[in-house]
Amino acid sequence: MNLVDRLRDTVGASHVLTDGDLSAYQIDWRKRFRGRALAVVRPATTAEVAGIVHLCAEHATSIVTQGGNTGLVGGSVPDATGSQVLLNLGRMNKVRAIDSANQTLTVEAGCILQSVQETAAQHGLLFPLSLAAEGSCTIGGNLGTNAGGTQVLRYGNARELCLGIEVVTADGEVWDGLSGLRKDNTGYDLRDLYIGSEGTLGIITAATLKLYARPAAVSTALAAVPTLAAAVDLLDLARARLGPALTGFEVMGRHALDLVRKHCPQLQQPLAPTAWTVLLEQSDAESEAHARTVFEALLETALERGIVGDAAVATSLEQSNAMWHLREAIPLAQADEGPNIKHDIALPVSAVPAFVAEADAALLAAFPGSQLVNFGHLGDGNLHYNLQGPPGVEARAFLDAGEARANRIVYDLVGRHGGSISAEHGIGVLKRAELAERKSPVALKLMRAVKAALDPHGRLNPGRVL
Ligand code: FAD
Ligand code: ZN
Repeated sequence: MNLVDRLRDTVGASHVLTDGDLSAYQIDWRKRFRGRALAVVRPATTAEVAGIVHLCAEHATSIVTQGGNTGLVGGSVPDATGSQVLLNLGRMNKVRAIDSANQTLTVEAGCILQSVQETAAQHGLLFPLSLAAEGSCTIGGNLGTNAGGTQVLRYGNARELCLGIEVVTADGEVWDGLSGLRKDNTGYDLRDLYIGSEGTLGIITAATLKLYARPAAVSTALAAVPTLAAAVDLLDLARARLGPALTGFEVMGRHALDLVRKHCPQLQQPLAPTAWTVLLEQSDAESEAHARTVFEALLETALERGIVGDAAVATSLEQSNAMWHLREAIPLAQADEGPNIKHDIALPVSAVPAFVAEADAALLAAFPGSQLVNFGHLGDGNLHYNLQGPPGVEARAFLDAGEARANRIVYDLVGRHGGSISAEHGIGVLKRAELAERKSPVALKLMRAVKAALDPHGRLNPGRVL
């Protein structure tokens, strides 16, 4: 029997797709990578995943693992050879257990992030991982990429929010590491090896996640700041005043919000167009009234010191959500505008203003008339530092002609300022060559040794990361 027929026997014929419109599985979110799979296979259980891995090993066939296919580096779609099995975990979406006293939730890897947040909320608890793709990305993908998002400042990346995982190894064995332990020093940390490995070491089939108490009130404010240095000063002040209650600190450049004005005119913008807008979020343990008083005092001090020019504090949940919508609409508005050159970079917060001044100048000199769409998680030193072509220039042509040169300018400066070329999106296919060029040779040697040990035949997500 051929592989596809054996896969049908394993998961049921209706869960092995080989024809019809498979673009949702085979084209990535940015539409930059278009592949073709031998078959799209949608298992429902860990045992079925293990069975698929065994079969693919027998047929010397490689596997690309996929969750919600919202990844931004081309790691979740097959290559164009038509020879890879695309393993989509969307049907593995059950909640396995909730332990309120231990503040943990165990879910299957295909659970949508938003439904995990909702399950935690139904039990009076908080799962804080939050990102604009939360309505379609999955826990498996979040852990596969070690996703960041908007609450990292307070709660950490996906890695920090995961206590245990279940993995199907490249040999098709199941490692049950679903511990709900906050302390466990029994040898090498296998969990953290798999998290962030982008499906190249094993397939995560379930996870035990860390929950938190829900805050009494969440309050949001927008502040106009004249420079990025002032934004960093505001971060300093907010940290000093709010401590751990500061749960979000996002920055949005002028062009980023202009794109939202253009493509999402239905979204109200409370502040007039300004060089930089900061979105602050506070999670208060007392009450909404308390949160607002603290925010108002903070912003008043910032106004007096000349750090902030204008500010708006949300007075209702609707207003607060509307402020977040502005931030979350930026990648969508950018996608509507057309292809652009994206950089997901991390820097020490202290280095952000100098980096941006140097990179802006270098890019504008190299690409006169181009537009810098700069926004991101400033509280974590993580910028989405993107370059859009000059008005009137076809976006795809600008991307094709300019990407390599723009990347060199940006990543050389990132290196000089002690930063990273991938803060939260990962390496995938898109940044593989950059990683090989810029990661230290010792680190690359160790990473290759890990890959060879855990996936000796190179069957899991080949051609990604390394
Ligand atoms: P996929 O795209 O399906 O896969 C991503 C990678 O993980 C692939 O390499 C895949 O092979 C691997 N993978 C998937 N499932 C598993 C599994 N079960 N086991 C092992 N490996 C697996 N990311 C951020 O970090 N922060 C953000 O703020 C953010 N904002 C975004 C906003 C938008 C509008 C979009 C479209 C994306 C955003 N992303 C962000 C990127 C993306 O949403 C995240 O990386 C997300 O975690 C990917 O989840 P997914 O289920 O869609 O994974
Ligand atoms: Zn982000």
